[in-house]
Amino acid sequence: MENKPQMREWLNDFGLSHPLVIGGPCSAETEEQVLKIAHELKDTDVTVLRAGIWKPRTRPGMFEGVGAIGLKWLQKAKAETGLLTATEVANAVHVKLALEHDVDILWIGARSTVSPFIMQDIADALEGTDKIVLVKNPVNPDLALWLGGVERLYTANIKKLGLIHRGFSSYEKSKYRNNPEWQIAVEAQSKFPDLPMICDPSHIAGKRDLIFDICQTALDLNFDGLMVESHWDPDNAWSDAAQQVTPTVLVQIMKDLKIRKESNEEEAYNTALNTLRAQIDIADQTILDTLGKRMKVAEDIGTLKKSKNVAVLQNKRWNEILGKMILEGQDRNLSEEFILKIFKAIHQESINHQEEVVNK
Ligand code: PEP
Ligand code: MN
Repeated sequence: MENKPQMREWLNDFGLSHPLVIGGPCSAETEEQVLKIAHELKDTDVTVLRAGIWKPRTRPGMFEGVGAIGLKWLQKAKAETGLLTATEVANAVHVKLALEHDVDILWIGARSTVSPFIMQDIADALEGTDKIVLVKNPVNPDLALWLGGVERLYTANIKKLGLIHRGFSSYEKSKYRNNPEWQIAVEAQSKFPDLPMICDPSHIAGKRDLIFDICQTALDLNFDGLMVESHWDPDNAWSDAAQQVTPTVLVQIMKDLKIRKESNEEEAYNTALNTLRAQIDIADQTILDTLGKRMKVAEDIGTLKKSKNVAVLQNKRWNEILGKMILEGQDRNLSEEFILKIFKAIHQESINHQEEVVNK
């Protein structure tokens, strides 16, 4: 994106003294539900009311959204509360209807960003709009696909753009519904610093008690906003019940979050430092997760060796690994001394795990 104009301007125009907060239910369910949540959110930090009108469900046979009628409820909510409105669009018909009903922010969901064909259709349908368009990351951890989606919109002369990090799906079980691959979001920010970056902790978490920590990490990483699913009766929501919070909880979350400001040089320094520290924390977490996984594999090898009655320690293989790691370490500016120390320690821990299995 050569020569990109000030894409951040739309956010600056809001003139907020805190991160942008988009709140509201996963899905619009009834007119009453939409109006009720809008009124409950109106005097909070929430600037934009979100509600899904067309719901992309992974499996058929579930609630797939109320359809275009819900756009009328959003219009009414906006008229009654002054909140801006946001909804997901996934094809040209959605775009046409959302524009006709004057929705302020259109977002593109993870299951759409993943497809360049869909992204191109949406970009063509939105061509030249002055609406704000936010692009969620694709379901799979692929930065190029995410940025490619933004580039298609930008090429269609859509200038008020932003990104939403909603986590990435993985086959492996984890405590999250969608893993927050923070390094991908940080990389996206560094590639396109003019694009506001919003975190959707709800779809990352999948359950409400993880939401606060995810929000705090996002703010520590200098994210510009949060999109938090909220419902006045979360447990009975028609979609994503486990991850939605009540407006009261959302207000409390906003109150408890440490929000960093940069009104002077000292604060700018602290923000920069905290952003880097948050990246270190994430890297450390990744190292620990990887070490945990490595030991699990070592135990599996232990089980296999035990069944064949093979010795745990096999020096030839170990020396090969070490030589390879020293070379790979050089590419990453890691000294031989460091590589030897760290891999000896890892190897010893692996042997301990294997021996425990073998001697059991
Ligand atoms: C949503 O925001 O309700 C939604 C379906 O999100 P995602 O595209 O991130 O799954
Ligand atoms: Mn949802």
